[in-house]
Amino acid sequence: MAADLIDIATAREVVLANIQPLPPERVALADALGRVLAEDVESAEDMPPFDSSALDGYVVGDTSGGELPVVGESRAGAPAQAALAPGQAMRISTGAAVPEGAAAVVGVERAEAANGRVVVPPMEVGANIRRAGEDVPAGELVLRSGDDLGPAELGALAALGRADVLCGAAPRVAVLTTGDELIEPGAGPLAPGQIRNSNAYALAAQAQRAGARVIAREIVRDDRAHTVETLARALDAADVVIVSGGVSVGPHDHVKAALAELGVEEHFWRVALKPGKPTWFGMRGQKVVFGLPGNPVSAIVTFHLFARPALRRLQGGGAHDTRSQARIDVDYPREPGRDQVLRVRLDARPDGWHVAPTKPQGSHVLTSMLGAGAFAIIPRGEGQVEAGSPVDIELLP
Ligand code: AMP
Ligand code: MG
Repeated sequence: MAADLIDIATAREVVLANIQPLPPERVALADALGRVLAEDVESAEDMPPFDSSALDGYVVGDTSGGELPVVGESRAGAPAQAALAPGQAMRISTGAAVPEGAAAVVGVERAEAANGRVVVPPMEVGANIRRAGEDVPAGELVLRSGDDLGPAELGALAALGRADVLCGAAPRVAVLTTGDELIEPGAGPLAPGQIRNSNAYALAAQAQRAGARVIAREIVRDDRAHTVETLARALDAADVVIVSGGVSVGPHDHVKAALAELGVEEHFWRVALKPGKPTWFGMRGQKVVFGLPGNPVSAIVTFHLFARPALRRLQGGGAHDTRSQARIDVDYPREPGRDQVLRVRLDARPDGWHVAPTKPQGSHVLTSMLGAGAFAIIPRGEGQVEAGSPVDIELLP
């Protein structure tokens, strides 16, 4: 490995070591999907809140069975007022509170009702009764600070009666794409030498998926003054500035020099990684800057490896490790000085997960990302990784 290249794991550690979570903010439950919880949540009350029936049927006052008078009804939302005595039954619906004196519930298909009476079999005490607090008793810790809020967490919070929760602040992200060749997707036909600005869309989407708020998207011309001016504005407005392109060593790559001029301190530049070698990371105070390579696949890969963990850390989230292992289905040549990140299709087989490259792996082959469920990491070295051998994979969000 060339001495000036940092390896992937160390680069990630440097990023995480330099970033502190932003102050949390209160978020309405309906807006909290994808956010990171910033408080411990315990249940204030038993869940479910009362003893209830698991079935539609009859609740009985004793379990010996026989023919019993039906003395009332308990419905969901309309509990029976009276208690149940031994030798009595009541109609009951799923989820309805069992009345005082209830011994068990029998399902409607095992009961024969006629003329205000019902014949039921003998039962075990407590059969088909869900106890209060069976899911979560009052006072139990249900969710922890740092947990990701997905659909299940939002449902649980609602069940616990929470209308809003404290979440890690959504980092404000500016996505700046550099290059005189760039035009927007909706702009007219491509002039010679022009390409569509795909990075702005892929990177902004990755940022959003990581829980960030994209507050600016701008194209930056390959011009030193324009680069400085645009970066300065982005640094003022955003918590995280993501720049694509212009971080290599060409005569029209102005990003590094502009960041230095603006007082952004470099923490690393150039990672032992393919694709994504020229990745740059730096900070100014608490402001975070990533200079990602312009090639579309390199930009997506390096965002995933370095910017996503940073955005999660800013929200107080955990490492969210999605590392796993799989068998690779093809021989793949190693690269001597750099670990490679392949875009792979995932395939579940009887002997576990298998992966295979989606298509040719050039860093400009954006469509190699399509259908990729994971990145596979091919450690640097000589020779090749043999088909059938295990490789580390990182599942994509
Ligand atoms: P650079 O890192 O600026 O040298 O760019 C490397 C390659 O990525 C060049 O072929 C650029 O045209 C391409 N590229 C740079 N920025 C973008 C972008 N925003 N969208 C798509 N391709 C880009
Ligand atoms: Mg460029």
